[in-house]
Parts: sequence; structure tokens; C-alpha cells
Amino acid sequence: MSNKPDDIDDIDDAEASARPARRQGWMARVGDLVVGTHPQLRSRVSYGLHPILIYIAWCAVHAYSAQVGYMTMGAATFMIVHNGIGMVAFYPLVRSGYSARFQDSGLILPQIVWAASSTIICYALNAPLRAALMQMLCFIHLFGLFTLRPRQLTIVAAATIGMLVTMFGVMAALGAPHFEVGQELFKVVFACLIIVLLTRMSIRHSLARGKMSAQKKELAIAVAKVAELVTRDTLTGLFNRMHMQELLMQEVTRQGRTGKAFCVAMIDLDHFKKINDVHGHHVGDDVLCSFARDAEHSLRETDTIARWGGEEFLVLMRETTLVDDAKLAIDRVRKITAGSAPSEAVPSLRFSFSAGVARHVDGQSIDQTTELADAALYAAKHAGRSCTVIGGVQSTPCVPTSEMG
Ligand code: GH3
Ligand code: MG
Ligand code: MG
Repeated sequence: MSNKPDDIDDIDDAEASARPARRQGWMARVGDLVVGTHPQLRSRVSYGLHPILIYIAWCAVHAYSAQVGYMTMGAATFMIVHNGIGMVAFYPLVRSGYSARFQDSGLILPQIVWAASSTIICYALNAPLRAALMQMLCFIHLFGLFTLRPRQLTIVAAATIGMLVTMFGVMAALGAPHFEVGQELFKVVFACLIIVLLTRMSIRHSLARGKMSAQKKELAIAVAKVAELVTRDTLTGLFNRMHMQELLMQEVTRQGRTGKAFCVAMIDLDHFKKINDVHGHHVGDDVLCSFARDAEHSLRETDTIARWGGEEFLVLMRETTLVDDAKLAIDRVRKITAGSAPSEAVPSLRFSFSAGVARHVDGQSIDQTTELADAALYAAKHAGRSCTVIGGVQSTPCVPTSEMG
């Protein structure tokens, strides 16, 4: 037993992505009822419906065989019951999702073994159909080609050959009627040979599939890493300017659609060059990382902060209509950073930042909004630093951090 998805689920993914948009109507609803709605479940159940159709055809063959005297009514009844079990036993386990916990989530292995046993019993009971049944036995193995793993394929082949050889031995030993040992030996050996060749091919296919699946996973990890590199700043781990610009554009579109206003804040660390010059570049890096951590923790979950460049940061404050609320949020960050020791190398070091906030007005460009915040930041620097200025309104004198409540 394993939680690892089966290869059938890989096929399912491909099928699901190729499937056209969901159909409407009662036929679609019946279809949903029979095969489910989850894409992987649908493909898993659909795959298992093929043997059911073949069983139905074989039930008709058994009934016909009894009619024309190829086998007795009792033997035909037994075969129909045996086929019926194959039809009803596996479907509920797969359809209910119970089998999803197994590596062989479509229960392909037991289904093939059951179908092979059915064919081999029929081989004993229905003499005129023996040649056709040998072909059927080989065909059944194709169901494992796309889904089973090498070990499972070997088990299926060994079980089938074992059952066939045993049945042949019993029939020969009992001297069954209409059983010409020489002719049957030829059929059985030939069928076993084809099963072995099919199994070898299937194993090669399975190994290639496993390799492709592993490569697909590696590729997905690599793509995720590249996406991370493209969107994140390597030093602080915050989003970078490029990604923030995308987020801002999305927010402008959202505001146009929903009417929910947002604000931006441009933040610049104060006298940062001095920190670098006095304590070294690595301490400057510590300050940048410490600020990024504190700001992320103290902002709301719906706010996003990005490193805009150097020691400048930009905060996107979603669903913030009042620019005063935006200012309050930035001043909350200021309180936290003012109390934090950003570098273990210089425990006494403290730092501050200046900020400019602006509200995005519907119809104006995002560049205009960030320029407004930038101008407010500039005003904050001129007003004495360590404060927040609201863009687009008359600048009020800054309150130094030490005087804030
Ligand atoms: P002000 O208060 O007016 O903003 O002064 P400031 O010293 O902070 O501003 P200035 O623009 O003069 O200096 C910014 C410095 O930030 C200069 C640059 O070397 C430094 N810097 C930019 N990126 C990094 C970085 O990734 N790590 C470190 N340690 N320093 C950086
Ligand atoms: Mg700067
Ligand atoms: Mg600065």
C-alpha cells in the first residue's frame, strides 16, 4: 500500500487537461454519477469500464455457446456468474474512491488476474473457442501496459502463465474430452511466449514512464525555483520590484472592477549609508533583513511589502480607503522597528525610516500614485526623517519616533 499516486493518475492528468469544457444536460449528469466529477477519479473509473463492456460481450458469447451446444448450460451459467463478479466487484471500490489509497489505484492488477482466470476457466469449458480465448488472454495483458509497475507486471504474467499451465496439466491428466494434448500444448506455449514478450515490452514502457514522471517532477521543482528567483529579492526574501509592479497593476484592475480603493507607502531607511560606512556592509544587510522581517510581521495579511531597490521598500495596502489608516499602519511598523536590534554584530544599533503614503485614485496611473508617495517620502526626509507624510495633501510637521505614543 502506498500514498504515492499511481501512473494511471499521470494519464488522468493528461486526459483531464485535454478534456473539453464540461457538458450540460441530463446525459452529463448521468455521466457524472457513473464516473464521478474529479478528473483523476473520472479517468480511473472510465478505464475500469472497458473490461465491463468486454465482460458483457463475453456473457452474450457464453449464452450463445450454451444455445448452440459449445458448452453445457451449467458451464455457461458458471461463466456468466464469474464474469458478473468481475463486473460488479471492482467498480464500487474504484468509484467510491476507496482504491485511491493503493498504488494501483485503478485496481488494474486484480482485474487483469480475474479476467485471465475467467478466460482460462472458459478455455477448459468451451472447446470450440479455445483458439480465440488464447488471443483474448494475450489482449487482457494490454490493460496493464500503461498503468502497472514492473513488479506488478511480473506478478500478473506469472499468475496468468501459472493458471494456464496448471489448467493445461489438469486437462491433460484428466484426459478431458475434445482436448488434443499436442495441439493444445502448441496453443498454450505460444500464448505464454506472447505474454512474456508483452510483459517485457510493458516493463520497458513502465521504466521509461517512471523516468519521465521523475523528470516531470524535477522540472516542476525547477520551474517553482525559477519563479521564486524571478519574483523574490535574494537578500530579504521579500517580493522584488518587478513582481510588485505586477501586483500593483492587478490591484489597479481590481479597483476598477470592484471599486475597492488601495494605498501605497514608499519607505526609505534613514542615514543607511552611514550604517554601512560605520559598521560595514554586512551590518547594513542585517538591517535590511531585520526591517523586512519586522515589517512583514506587523503589516496586515492583505498588505504586501516589496524591496523597491537599495534601502527602499514599497507597501501595497489593499482595501484601504482612508490614507490616514495607511499612515497608521506604517507608524505601527515604525514602532516595532524602532525597538528592534537589527544586528547581533552591533547590539546597540538602532535605525529609523521615513515614509510617504498615497491613495490610488481611480483613473490615475500607478506611476502617478507611486510618484505621489515618493514625493511624500521626500517631504518626510525634509521634515526631519523618521516620520510618515501623506502624499497629495499639505505636509504636516513630522513627529519624531521618540515622541510617538
Ligand atoms: P537618507 O536618510 O537620505 O535616505 O540617507 P541614506 O544614507 O539612507 O541614503 P543614500 O541614498 O545616501 O544611501 C543609500 C545606501 O544604501 C547606499 C548604498 O550603498 C546602500 N545600499 C543599497 N543596497 C544595499 C544592500 O543591498 N546592502 C547594503 N548593505 N547596503 C545597500
Ligand atoms: Mg534611498
Ligand atoms: Mg535612505
